[in-house]
Amino acid sequence: MIYMDHSATTPVDKRVLEFMLPYFDKKYGNASSLHSMGQEAKKALEEAREKIAKVINADPSEIYFTSGGTESNNFAIKGIAFANKDKGKHIITTKIEHDCVLNTCKWLEKIGFEVTYLDVDRYGLIDSGVLEASLRDDTILVSIMHANNEIGTIQDMEEIGKIVGESNAYLHTDAVQSVTKIPIDVKKMNVDMLSISSHKIFGPKGVGCLYIRKGVKIDPLMHGGGHEGGLRSGTENIAGIAGFGEAMKIGEEERPRTMPRLEKLRDKIIDNVLKIDNTFLNGHPKKRLPINANFSFRFIEGESLVLLLDSRGIEASTGSACSSKSLEPSHVLLAIGLKPEDAHGSLRITLGKDNTEKDVDYLLKVLPEIVSELREMSPFKKDYGEFE
Ligand SMILES: *Cc1c(COP(=O)(O)O)cnc(C)c1O
Repeated sequence: MIYMDHSATTPVDKRVLEFMLPYFDKKYGNASSLHSMGQEAKKALEEAREKIAKVINADPSEIYFTSGGTESNNFAIKGIAFANKDKGKHIITTKIEHDCVLNTCKWLEKIGFEVTYLDVDRYGLIDSGVLEASLRDDTILVSIMHANNEIGTIQDMEEIGKIVGESNAYLHTDAVQSVTKIPIDVKKMNVDMLSISSHKIFGPKGVGCLYIRKGVKIDPLMHGGGHEGGLRSGTENIAGIAGFGEAMKIGEEERPRTMPRLEKLRDKIIDNVLKIDNTFLNGHPKKRLPINANFSFRFIEGESLVLLLDSRGIEASTGSACSSKSLEPSHVLLAIGLKPEDAHGSLRITLGKDNTEKDVDYLLKVLPEIVSELREMSPFKKDYGEFE
């Protein structure tokens, strides 16, 4: 099989796996124990914290380990909402966030918070003027994702950081898709909080972190024994955290070689797929993740496309893996202005370091065949008179 769904998840890098193994059976200590094995676990925990902090230009004490991107986003948003509700109850986010941000915001609305969901343009970019105009005295949080998981569009976080920096609100960004793909610097971006997930960067599943700038007023999501500076209780997942740290280090070290190569392959995919008629690219032509290509093929269903690709040995996606269980069209594609029928015909290809030019050539051979096959069977065919 050729795997081209790296925004859904990635395999654990062999080196990362090797690095993790001793922490399951030889170095299995609890980082809170005073004995030597406990201290060995504590050391692994702190080394991972240093590796991660270095990649995003933070201080190690500002990294809080969590169970992944979903928890980090919940922690950031609910933690700020609860700790600052006396200051205000207004939150700003966008219409294209991951479901774990949108559903957290919807839940907060039910308990008395007010949320503004910013529109995006046809490329998936927010309007900074509208953001500025939406900020109020009672705005306590702005949460805007760095790079979108479906269409790959990258927001200008430095500009957003400047605007929000002049208000009373805290700024959070979901950087789950961007970290190790493009440079991240929490100081340059002027963000107060930033979410990362290990399994999107060739680390294990079920671990991630939230960067929280020193001095931010935030409540914990998990109460308990006071781990992670009292902000995230629970015995630390040492093997997972050690693997996450190593995955960050390797991903960032290899980024200057890996990403230009994948970007070239990605561009080859875009150039050739757009030769298929009635096909267009979703997302920004330039401001997009180097691994992401997202297309809409008119008159066909993305799900059928994904299943037929799978039968020919290629694993891809219609968009977000999380919402693919529902039959609703992608909220991201609707937000960039696609008609529901075009949103249903989407295909997301996300490359990873193991993909080769041969893989791409194979994709470019089978995809046009599958598209014509499906269009031959399309119930929309007659309505559009041979797709003109
Ligand atoms: C995958 C993803 C998440 C969720 O991360 P998990 O570790 O799977 O919980 C959040 N935000 C974005 C943008 C993602 O792509």
